[in-house]
Amino acid sequence: MAISEADARALSGIVGAANCSARAPDREQHARDASHHAAHTPDLVVWPNNAEEVARILAYANAHGLPVTPWGTGTGLEGGAIPQHGGISLSLARMDAILAVHADDLQVTAQPGLPHQDLNRQLARYGLFFPPDPGANASIGGMLATNAAGIRTVRYGATKDNVLAIQVALADGRLLRLGSRSLKQSSGYNLLQLFVGSEGTLGVITEATLKLAPIPQHTGTAMASFAAVEAAVAAVLDLRLSGLDLAALEYLDSTNTRILADAGVHIAPLPTLLLELHGGAAEAVAGGMNALRAICEAHGATAFRAATDNMERTLLWKTRHSAYEAIVRNHPGQEIVIMDVAVPISAYPELIRSAQDTLDELNLVGYMKGHAGDGNIHIELPYGDETTFVRIAMANQRIAAIAVGLGGTATGEHGVGIGKRDLMRMEHGPALDLMQAMKTLLDPIGILNPGKVLPATH
Ligand SMILES: Cc1cc2nc3c(=O)[nH]c(=O)nc-3n(C[C@H](O)[C@H](O)[C@H](O)COP(=O)(O)OP(=O)(O)OC[C@H]3O[C@@H](n4cnc5c(N)ncnc54)[C@H](O)[C@@H]3O)c2cc1C
Repeated sequence: MAISEADARALSGIVGAANCSARAPDREQHARDASHHAAHTPDLVVWPNNAEEVARILAYANAHGLPVTPWGTGTGLEGGAIPQHGGISLSLARMDAILAVHADDLQVTAQPGLPHQDLNRQLARYGLFFPPDPGANASIGGMLATNAAGIRTVRYGATKDNVLAIQVALADGRLLRLGSRSLKQSSGYNLLQLFVGSEGTLGVITEATLKLAPIPQHTGTAMASFAAVEAAVAAVLDLRLSGLDLAALEYLDSTNTRILADAGVHIAPLPTLLLELHGGAAEAVAGGMNALRAICEAHGATAFRAATDNMERTLLWKTRHSAYEAIVRNHPGQEIVIMDVAVPISAYPELIRSAQDTLDELNLVGYMKGHAGDGNIHIELPYGDETTFVRIAMANQRIAAIAVGLGGTATGEHGVGIGKRDLMRMEHGPALDLMQAMKTLLDPIGILNPGKVLPATH
């Protein structure tokens, strides 16, 4: 146990007894995120109520060498929130308030524990929304810490593109404000973006000012099926080059669509694209949908289902969102590794081809789906035994190397966490040394989320 009773008493003194727990159910609830990575229980779960309490917790932990792992909502897919070294699980869940809505500026300032779907529910009355959507109801802090992206990134950008300012608590307890509410900022080093994607290893985000967008007046959604994967992927390139302002462009391979069709979902068991357009005028969206149809048909689409009314659109999206559940049901009792790589869009066909070849060579079943419009692919790989897991680990390495070789990255949006640490040197070369130096500068004792992002140095 890294934490003594005296430590627990001191921490409880900062946040209050009701916000500090060493009870087994609380510790177990914070031992594992949504990834396949092994659980590790913290010694203590602490729920601060404000930034000052976060700063005092960190100052105490720093002075006593206690590991601190920030926790958002635990939906991460690379083990980022698992307290690998025990110590404190620092849950931001009780810091979930909207602090200010600047509707005229299309901005909101919120605490980090607020889940983004809850944020959007509260913003609906202003006709505004925060566009990044990782699918799960992730917290604002977790999304910033992983630079989450998702389905709408193709139009609105990733989380990094939608943040203007943050407040962050450093390991030694200093509280800093980084960025400003101005859309244009060229004042000094861009420290704000250093913390975005740093997965709780450099500081704890305690507040964020985010960019908002008007809720689209009109939306069109379509699903297109293709006889062959090559045709679907070639269509992705043309759709991106078309100049149409796509709000989503998603790919599901036939491994996914087959199990969905088998489960009774109305979908052809073929490579499939899901597309969405947002617009201010119904005619513009209708015209855009016709243009999308023409591009898909030019690539031999065997079916094109378009919908503009909400019920039908929701049904089309349900297909995409139920794909993961269908995999879980099809592989009862198995764990699932979710691989995540991204490349420049022109290399997408090559990535899909080489990734499939790799899976075939290693005799693995993989379900490919991805945010195709961003050149991002996820491969879901179920396993029930150690030998399959070893082959999955080999595929993970090889496919990440392929993506990096194509000018891309080993992780487009899920982050490094535990699972991609050993790929950091391959991707970043000597720049990794600078990352390590920054970690030492900001967290010299190494209390912040130890065991994550950077590879072990010994
Ligand atoms: C079904 C499903 C679908 C998903 N789809 C996508 C997708 O399409 N795109 C995508 O990007 N992700 C996706 N994810 C992954 C996940 O939702 C994101 O990684 C999300 O950003 C994690 O947020 P969280 O609040 O759950 O963070 P957690 O899992 O709790 O933590 C993630 C990391 O952030 C750190 N952290 C949390 N809060 C803070 C803070 N305030 N300050 C500093 N560090 C902090 C943690 O220490 C950890 O390293 C999906 C997950 C699931 C389960």
